[in-house]
Amino acid sequence: MSDCIFCKIAEKKIPAKIVYEDELVFAFEDMNPQAPVHILVIPKKHIATLLEVSEEDFQIFGHMMKTSTRIAREKGIAGKGFRVITNCNPEGGQVVYHVHQHILGGRQLRGTLG
Ligand code: 5GP
Ligand code: ZN
Repeated sequence: MSDCIFCKIAEKKIPAKIVYEDELVFAFEDMNPQAPVHILVIPKKHIATLLEVSEEDFQIFGHMMKTSTRIAREKGIAGKGFRVITNCNPEGGQVVYHVHQHILGGRQLRGTLG
């Protein structure tokens, strides 16, 4: 989608610190990290929110989860613990309307939001 900031990041039209990329997903460091490790995993396909994820996207979503756990292992936070979060719509805290998973770790996370 042309006016979506995460689509532009995945297309490398906007720079980001890339962590991982394949044909389905793209992972990069959050520009405003809330923990020592704060990485975003997005589908390359533009999907606005969790509510728009259709059955045909389930493969992509399974792959996003697999990617998140692999990145957590690679970053050395898997054993101690980490969190994978997807915010949905305004009261869920979603600001960027291209669905994404936050991987958070590297410190003790507290409460629901850490
Ligand atoms: P949300 O609140 O939508 O779940 O999370 C959006 C996240 O995207 C925020 O943590 C914010 O810091 C991050 N973010 C927004 N714009 C950019 C950007 O241009 N580059 C990077 N690397 N992260 C961004
Ligand atoms: Zn997008």
